[in-house]
Amino acid sequence: MPAYDSLLASITTDAVSARDVFDPATGELIGRAPLLTSAEADAAVDRAADAQAAWAALGHEERSAVLHRAADAVEAQSEALAQILSREQGKPLNGPNARFEVGACVSWLRVTADTPTPTQVVVDDGSDYAELHYRPIGVVGAITPWNWPMMIAIWQIAPALRMGNTVVAKPSEYTLLSGLALIAVLNEALPSGVLIAAPGDGGIGAGLVANAAVGKIMFTGSTATGKKIIEASAGNVTRLTLELGGNDAGIVLPDVDPEAIAEQLFWGAFINTGQTCAALKRLYVHDDVYEAVCDALVEVASSMPMGIGLDEANVLGPLQNAMQFDVVDRLVEAARRSGARVLLGGDPKRDQPGHFYPATLIADIDPTNDLVVEEQFGPVLPIVRYTDLDEAITLANGLDVGLGASVWSADRDRARDVAARIEAGTVWINSHGGVHPMIPFGGVKQSGYGLEFGVDGLKAASVPQVING
Ligand code: NAD
Repeated sequence: MPAYDSLLASITTDAVSARDVFDPATGELIGRAPLLTSAEADAAVDRAADAQAAWAALGHEERSAVLHRAADAVEAQSEALAQILSREQGKPLNGPNARFEVGACVSWLRVTADTPTPTQVVVDDGSDYAELHYRPIGVVGAITPWNWPMMIAIWQIAPALRMGNTVVAKPSEYTLLSGLALIAVLNEALPSGVLIAAPGDGGIGAGLVANAAVGKIMFTGSTATGKKIIEASAGNVTRLTLELGGNDAGIVLPDVDPEAIAEQLFWGAFINTGQTCAALKRLYVHDDVYEAVCDALVEVASSMPMGIGLDEANVLGPLQNAMQFDVVDRLVEAARRSGARVLLGGDPKRDQPGHFYPATLIADIDPTNDLVVEEQFGPVLPIVRYTDLDEAITLANGLDVGLGASVWSADRDRARDVAARIEAGTVWINSHGGVHPMIPFGGVKQSGYGLEFGVDGLKAASVPQVING
């Protein structure tokens, strides 16, 4: 049996408690994903708790070696994983999509395995001596969204395991097969009970948050769900890392070369067909270069093939689900009704299968329009014209979220000055959305709290302990 078929067969079920999974590009049935009951999810937490002490006792060196073996397993199954991801999530194999995502899982596992332990001597002055250690928390609950279902799961699982925790991972109900396939492959290398999948809907996630044996929740998803988790965490003072929604602004200064930046701008906004937390979601362009930037973006966007993910030619795919299609559709209609200029797209073919929404660029839009101030999470970019940089910065900072942002300029120092005035967890200069396993990532304002990646990410997956004396 080809690798894709055998991996898919190993994670699908004909049990009654299961969910049919459909390809968002064609509507075809791909398989049936098992769903846990609340009692089964609690039993998974118990098993993870039982396995934790032995896993922690292995020590950093051995756990790092196991993480490398897990990375080997993902590498060996990378094409089967990419195909399951592409069929279920919709993202094409090529471009910054399915193969890229599986490749990122391998890199994050390896770099997380090799990151030095955060332990440090904090005072050693002859009279006082203190060390700061980072100990395992116990069981970590890892709750993920549907847009990057494998990569985001690894962002939570890898540091949690590295620091000696065991993990119960709950994939999004929209991308159960992607989550289950990844965990099945990782488990080829991990000891039993160290990483357990808890497939289910939001109720299973809420059960993890409420479970007293779960010491930390690492959550990536919407701000609305994040707020529920904050409230529910109060009961057991459960620790939280929250990577929540964003509505990233980009500010283009008048000194740019529009054609030179157009492709980077495009991918900043349209990576994963716009379904990315830290994608460029509203662009503010100076009047001097406004028309030239719009023209260059239209040229790039028109050349990007969209279609079924398994077709090697495509780099844009469908939206993952009908709910997200409706959000995008509503926001584009709101923009059109307001008199904004549709430069490209905005005309989905409603009589064809799949949740395809074409790449859409909207110009001359009021900065208070819903398409600008709400997170569209799809292949649409509103382009706002400005003349006064202070006003553009005020608009960029005017929302209650602050995940990422970008500044585009030929003058790096000037761009850095503007970046320092923007309220966002990351500000990129002349690019948008790139992440690196050693560079801390996290939001401000209602985009959440806590950092992921690198040494800071390891600290966040553990509890500090001072040894004084
Ligand atoms: P969502 O909040 O609807 O769901 C995320 C996960 O939470 C799912 O697994 C869901 O089953 C679970 N869940 C739902 N209710 C729960 C509850 N009460 N308790 C515990 N878990 C619960 O988000 P989504 O629609 O899957 O993802 C899209 C959103 O995620 C966007 O807003 C996007 O910006 C954000 N996101 C943020 C980041 C980041 O790093 N900051 C990354 C990716 C996506």
